[in-house]
Amino acid sequence: MLNLSEKLVAPLLDWYDQGARILPWRSQPTPYRVWVSEIMLQQTRVEAVKPYFERFISALPDIEALANAEEEILLKLWEGLGYYNRVRNLQKAAKMVQSQGDGELPRSPEALQKLPGIGPYTAGAIASIAYGVAVPAVDGNVLRVIARLQASEESISHPAVKRRVQQQLEEIIPLERAGDFNQALMELGATVCLPNGAPDCEHCPVRRYCEGYDKGIAAFLPVKEQKKKRREEKRTVFLLLHQDQVALAKRPPEGLLAGLWEFPSCEGWMSAARAEQYWKEKGARVQSVEEIGNAKHIFSHIEWQMRGYVLRLEDPLEDYQWVNREQRQSQYALPSAFVAFSRWLDKQE
Ligand code: SF4
Repeated sequence: MLNLSEKLVAPLLDWYDQGARILPWRSQPTPYRVWVSEIMLQQTRVEAVKPYFERFISALPDIEALANAEEEILLKLWEGLGYYNRVRNLQKAAKMVQSQGDGELPRSPEALQKLPGIGPYTAGAIASIAYGVAVPAVDGNVLRVIARLQASEESISHPAVKRRVQQQLEEIIPLERAGDFNQALMELGATVCLPNGAPDCEHCPVRRYCEGYDKGIAAFLPVKEQKKKRREEKRTVFLLLHQDQVALAKRPPEGLLAGLWEFPSCEGWMSAARAEQYWKEKGARVQSVEEIGNAKHIFSHIEWQMRGYVLRLEDPLEDYQWVNREQRQSQYALPSAFVAFSRWLDKQE
C-alpha cells in the first residue's frame, strides 16, 4: 500500500477551486455556522440540510441565541432532521461555551472535543474550516476516498485504520489551506468518489495517483464489516381524535426519541377490536375505530413497523396534550417516524 503523496494536494485543491459547490454554510464560514452545518450533516444529505440550516441560522443566529432558545422552539427547528440528540447536544455545548469562556467556540480540536456532540471529525472540520488549524477531518467519506486511493482492502471500520489515515493526512495537509483541503476531500467523496458502487473516476482530479483505479478494484472498495441486523419492533399507533383536536403524548426522558412528542403508541400490533378495548380500559368513550394502514421507520438499530388506528372519542382523555391542526404544525415537533400519520391527518382536516 502506498503512502498518501503530497502530489495529490495540488490537483485536489485546483479542482476544488474551480468547481466547489455553493453551500449556504460556505459563505461566511464562522465557527458557529460551520459547527451547526456539520452537526446537521452528520446523518443527513446536503440537499436536505440546506433549508434547515438557513431556517436555524436565521432563528438562532449565534451561540447566545442557541444557548437561550426554548426547547420546543429548538425541536421545532430540527423537526424532520431526526436524531434529536444532535440538537440537544448543540444546545448543551452552547450553554457550556457561554458559561465557561469568552462565549466563542474553542479553536483547538482537543478543546472542541470536550463539548457534547463534537467528536474527532467535527472538531477537525470546525478547527480547520473556521480557524485554519492544520488538522484533518476524517469521516466515512474520507476513509472511502483514501481506501480507494491506496487500494487498501483493510476494513475501514477498524479504529487502527482510521488512526493511520488521520496520521497520513496530518503529514500532507497544507498549512495555508487546511480547511479547503478537508472540504475538497469531502467534496470528492460526495460528488465523484461516490459510495455504494462505481465511483465516477473519469471526472476525478486525482485519478492518475489512484491505486484503486489503476488496479481496477475501486468500485469494490472500501471493505466494511457486516453491520448487525436491525431489530424489528411492531408498534400500534393511535390517532385519538376529539372534535378538531388530536392527542399527543410526551415520550419518556430517556431512550429512543427521548422527551419528544408523539401520537400515543404501544408495542405490538393490535386488531381494531383490541385497540378499542385498550382505550376503553383507559376510560375513553370510543365512538368509532378505523384502521388507517401501516408505516415503517428505520432508526440506526431498530426498525419500527407501525399499524395505525384512528379512534374518535366523545370526550378528550386527561393526561394527553390535545392540539388542533395549526398548533400541531406550528408548535409541536413530531419525529419523522410519525410522518405517515401526520400526513393522514393533514389530508382529513
Ligand atoms: Fe475515487 Fe476513482 Fe478518483 Fe480513485 S480515481 S479517488 S476511485 S473517483
